[in-house]
Amino acid sequence: MSETLFIKIINREIPADIVYEDDDCLCFRDINPQAPLHVLLIPKKPIQKVMDAAVEDQALLGHLMLKASEIARQEGHGDAFRLVINNGAGAGQTVFHLHIHILGGRPLSWPPG
Ligand code: 5GP
Repeated sequence: MSETLFIKIINREIPADIVYEDDDCLCFRDINPQAPLHVLLIPKKPIQKVMDAAVEDQALLGHLMLKASEIARQEGHGDAFRLVINNGAGAGQTVFHLHIHILGGRPLSWPPG
């Protein structure tokens, strides 16, 4: 499998505006933000899509959810933010390394497009 863009960001082969990092995950600003807050939270483990996560990834997925809230709060949007995971090209996924979009800072309508 060829290296994705996000693995290159993890390995610092391409630059990104990193807002959080620990041993298991990395969070950086989206290059094409759709809201005043738009960061991407990714596991360092290269899981292609959320549906590819296995039982052994349960703690990692939980870690990402907890960190997403923490990062939204740190960024000043703790009361109103949206988490989005696109699973598969048909749902708008373009980078095949699991990522959670954290969006906030503007009214977020429902249903999403
Ligand atoms: P997806 O469409 O797969 O759910 O989301 C991929 C996201 O990655 C998009 O929001 C896109 O703007 C972002 N993105 C694509 N290339 C880069 C890049 O080189 N750097 C950063 N920081 N974000 C990127």
